[in-house]
Amino acid sequence: MIRCHQLPLPGQTVHGQSITWGGGGKGANQAFAAAQLGGDVAMIGAVGGDAYGSEARAALANAGCDVGGVRTIGATSGQAIVLVQDDGTNSIVVIEGANGLFDRRELLGEADRLSRAAIVLLQLEIPFETVVEAAALARRAGSHLILDPAPAAVLPERLLQSVDIVTPNQTELAAMSGRQPGDRPAIAEAARALRARGTDTVIVKLGAEGCLLVDSDGERHLAAPVVDAVDTTGAGDIFNGALAVALSEGREIAEACRFAIAAAAISVTRRGAQAATPTRAEADTMFR
Ligand code: ATP
Repeated sequence: MIRCHQLPLPGQTVHGQSITWGGGGKGANQAFAAAQLGGDVAMIGAVGGDAYGSEARAALANAGCDVGGVRTIGATSGQAIVLVQDDGTNSIVVIEGANGLFDRRELLGEADRLSRAAIVLLQLEIPFETVVEAAALARRAGSHLILDPAPAAVLPERLLQSVDIVTPNQTELAAMSGRQPGDRPAIAEAARALRARGTDTVIVKLGAEGCLLVDSDGERHLAAPVVDAVDTTGAGDIFNGALAVALSEGREIAEACRFAIAAAAISVTRRGAQAATPTRAEADTMFR
């Protein structure tokens, strides 16, 4: 991530103020958060044969995540170059690298590992056919499947029907439902429409307002604590990692959302994504 006063126009060169490196993307952030918060976590995915790949693996392993399912494919690890100007406006270039090469065949090489999971957390930063195959494998193994539908996409019925929980933010919900983002009643209506397409539980992440839980018990708004937010990067990932940990410990869904809200609230008070993940003790203190 490069910070500069103003983003360069095409053909322009500008001076930047700082450059920082942090681990990602969504899958790694969620695995990192779940492991650091005390979950028994294995990551399945891919890095390239470069130094970034070794660093990504090491960061996850340090958090306590089993990285035996992180394959090395191709030369380049997935990367995002983020330029941010003073008012917060950003420009991002994403290089898919190994993530784009993580196809069905690569996934099937990790089928046993996937099938052993009680809870599977999926995101959309790998090829779509791989996501669909992973969902089918998880379903067959009887795992509980949480899908973070990010980056935003229109998802087919067959995928939504094999997912237990879907966790869009407001933009992703709009993309999935084909409706403009709106006020709380409009969000609830879009979430209900999504449920009607086959997913049992919809959790809409609402930024500083917490989340909206829509399931067979109806709708519940769960508020976030008021904190001094400095950087919301990765908050959604930490929410998902924490949600999975709480569910794995047998908490019921609203309680698990409250734990996720507590962990994510701490993360927005710190810079970075993985670096902003709270410890379990910190999350528990905020949760109580
Ligand atoms: P990101 O893309 O930044 O990782 P997201 O867009 O997927 O996040 P958000 O709704 O912005 O999702 O944030 C995820 C969760 O983080 C929210 O549901 C909320 O619990 C928590 N959160 C985000 N912003 C704040 C904030 N300002 N104060 C407290 N909690 C926050």
